[in-house]
Amino acid sequence: MPKREHRRLLLFLRVQQAKPILREMNNTNGRADKQPLINYNSWVIKILSLSDEVDALIYSPRVGVLFQDVDVVIGCGDLPGEYLDYVVCHINKPLYYVEGNHVQVDNEGKVLVGSNLHGGLDLHHKVKRYPIQGKQLLLAGVAGSLEYHGGPYHFSQTAMWLHVFRLLPGLWHNRVRYGRYLDLFVTHAPPWGIHDQPDLPHRGIKAFHWFDRVFQPRYHIHGHIHYYHPDTVIKTQLGKTTILNTFRYKKIEFDL
Ligand SMILES: [Zn+2]
Repeated sequence: MPKREHRRLLLFLRVQQAKPILREMNNTNGRADKQPLINYNSWVIKILSLSDEVDALIYSPRVGVLFQDVDVVIGCGDLPGEYLDYVVCHINKPLYYVEGNHVQVDNEGKVLVGSNLHGGLDLHHKVKRYPIQGKQLLLAGVAGSLEYHGGPYHFSQTAMWLHVFRLLPGLWHNRVRYGRYLDLFVTHAPPWGIHDQPDLPHRGIKAFHWFDRVFQPRYHIHGHIHYYHPDTVIKTQLGKTTILNTFRYKKIEFDL
């Protein structure tokens, strides 16, 4: 037998020997699983979302070790800029944020956005794309809450509709370019009727509920609603969208 033919035969025999082993590797409970063990087409993105109250676990030197696998930090509002800066410096990952209804102001009443100090990106009525592992994380956000005494980032329901409408061109671009509208909708206030409360400052936003129903982002994360009882509902499914109250901190993972 010629040398080249001999080599081909050896290669064929090795592949045949390897097949049962590969089948075994892909079996789940004795069933043949059509999914390979590693899906190279997806990437599990890990997000640390912070909102409303400083948490002692996060505001400690351990944060860099405990959350070293995090890809992106999200601020859902009402947090001091120094706190967000501290976390970003220790985790060394990008920060995207929206402001809440309580913001820091200087002596002249000018809003201080401390999280800009280390390159945090404000998501308020913007659509952003964060490239990671050859994928794109698609983000958008709206800051603030309903107006109750006219402070910065206090908006009427009508103003919230306008903020949401400003996102639409970016969403349609995403749909055409990436085949989906959005992965992560970041707001301070919750949607109307979900995780909200009856008093005016904590009422939900009608435009956010419409937005989630129509554009179905993977996650809608918000803050603003403080809770201290374990029975409080903080996670709600609306179609394909998981709406999550990220009060203090939450870690979120999903496939991109
Ligand atoms: Zn708030």
